Amino acid sequence: MCIVCQTAMTVAAAVTAVVPGVGATQQSEPERPVAAVAAAPSLKGKCARVGQSRTVKGVRYVCGASKRWQVATGARSGTGSQTTTTTTTVAPRNDPLADDFATFVRALPRATSNRPDDRTEQAQIKVIYAVPSFSTDRRRDTSGEISEAMFAANEWWAKQNGGFGLRFDTFQGALDVGYLEFNTTKQKWYDDYFGYIGERPNLTNGLSKFQSVLADAGFWTQPRINGSNDASAMDTATRGRLFVVVVEAPAGTYARTGVNSGGCRAAIDAINDVVPIVTLAITQDDLSSCFRLNQFGRPPLTGSVAAQASWMRAVPNFGMVDNVAQWMRNLPGCGYGRTPRDGERFRVPGVVDESRAWEIRGGFMRDLAEVQDPLAAFFNNGAALPAAPKFDVRNDLYFHITSDKLASQGDCNSDISKHPLWDSLPLDRDSGRKLLRSSYDRPDDISGAQFHAVYVLRHGATDYAYDTSGDIERAMRHADRWLRAESGKAMRLDTYQGNLDVTFLPLPPRFESTTGKDCSRVPCPNDQDFYAHLQSIGRVNPNKTYLFFYSGGLTGMILCGGAGVGKSVLLNLEVDGQFCSGAKWDEPTSTALSWGLLALHETFHSLGAVCPAAPDSDGAYHSKIEEDIMFARSKGNVKLDPNRRNYWGNVPAGCTDTSQSPLFGG
Ligand SMILES: [Zn+2]
Repeated sequence: MCIVCQTAMTVAAAVTAVVPGVGATQQSEPERPVAAVAAAPSLKGKCARVGQSRTVKGVRYVCGASKRWQVATGARSGTGSQTTTTTTTVAPRNDPLADDFATFVRALPRATSNRPDDRTEQAQIKVIYAVPSFSTDRRRDTSGEISEAMFAANEWWAKQNGGFGLRFDTFQGALDVGYLEFNTTKQKWYDDYFGYIGERPNLTNGLSKFQSVLADAGFWTQPRINGSNDASAMDTATRGRLFVVVVEAPAGTYARTGVNSGGCRAAIDAINDVVPIVTLAITQDDLSSCFRLNQFGRPPLTGSVAAQASWMRAVPNFGMVDNVAQWMRNLPGCGYGRTPRDGERFRVPGVVDESRAWEIRGGFMRDLAEVQDPLAAFFNNGAALPAAPKFDVRNDLYFHITSDKLASQGDCNSDISKHPLWDSLPLDRDSGRKLLRSSYDRPDDISGAQFHAVYVLRHGATDYAYDTSGDIERAMRHADRWLRAESGKAMRLDTYQGNLDVTFLPLPPRFESTTGKDCSRVPCPNDQDFYAHLQSIGRVNPNKTYLFFYSGGLTGMILCGGAGVGKSVLLNLEVDGQFCSGAKWDEPTSTALSWGLLALHETFHSLGAVCPAAPDSDGAYHSKIEEDIMFARSKGNVKLDPNRRNYWGNVPAGCTDTSQSPLFGG
């Protein structure tokens, strides 16, 4: 049985204006669906003084009569407002990351030693500008060239991960670039650092020797890695610094034949020895500069596919994205190289035809079929891409792995989303985001029965990052407050260090067609499919009830939520690009429950409510009392079983008293 709720509410067409996003959104993100009645973006928290004004990310707010921030309109604001008469039309969509960018690229004096760290985490990217004695110091460390390029690359990383990028070594917020000179000739540079230097267990790749240069300059302070049998030093390295070395020298050849190959290239050689060094070689063989690192600008994240491909194919951008990702496959405590071996066969998800269902993968992820993956071998061959560059399109090989063989392999499946280099602070420091995107259930603050929220993203659908934006958390906190006010009982929410733990679940392609459900009677996919999928990859805790917030839309019917008796609930967020029925996260509207209260409504269904034998039952698992949260088309402000005789309290024999569920606590 699957109870379908909130069906066939008409989605009002009267969306008059799309207000520019503010606060929780980044420019790099798509516009979120708007409720049927477009709301002004809100600035959280109370303000101190009526009339006070504040500008955040290009939008001007004034403190209104209720001591709440409201968008300045120029026409009117709170009483006693000191709003100026400047005409404020729709605020231009400024760069929401402008302040973060300015902080990160702020010029610091040249540093030949490490400055004090802003953060205590050991895992961070340390950027070094290295000038060999045969070359020219172009002062890329102090000109802003390096820091601007690193910020740009990090913006792309953050786009992949719900707004969270990688952690860099910063000093008072600015990128702390180390500077070093080292003594060598061009010939010796080629010979020493691009030569083959021996069989395992010794180091194999010349650039692995650069750890000595870093150590001599005082930047490398962790144990030196002496070879592939040096497991302890390697493991330490996976928890510590990754060095990105911009070297004012040409790169040698991959074939390690030595001289005169020259050129501009990101080199991953050291990483093949699990030595945490990525190099960006930035001069030609004649020692002229290849380019300015920052000349490719910020990533055009909302631009055309061609523009995004072009940006990503620029050498420094590609080097930062690809080579750093390769490093991050090495997860702490996991030894080396747990990704598929060269030649290993993998099943392609969703393909039923056995003759086409298998493909051979390489140990370096280079033979991916998805050419828009920057880690695919064919990414850089210049061909037009079918879609914008994106990590691990099927989420089955190295990033947010939720399908296929690696999904159930536990901690050591080389899922780079688990690497400690991810920053626990969002790239947009004002966004209000609290936890990193995670495809895994984090350690629990409480034990036993609890609600676990999941943000499900249909393959290819727009990612609104509701897991990291705080929106799902706001919905659940709102529902919890409502239940406490109604009953004195709380919702037992799955939290991690006090914040709602929301799991990110990107679906594999063609997910719907392989579930075997009768999609003519219930929407497909639905919460039961998601639950079964999580179960198949070993990520279900039987004590928990899963609230699946689904982006990507159901097809063939309009519905906002549904549940059968069991441990899962569906919240279908969008219909035709708009929030279903105009629902909001944490306040009821005249057309719908809030998402939080709808989650509770569906949860009561999952516990068996409303029992057909209950006195106020409508006979179809709903209440016939209009203000009851369990009314079939409940909306606005609702009550919990007003007569306390249907599903909460003194229920008839044979019906479930949901107040006794272990999901609700005192
Ligand atoms: Zn219902």
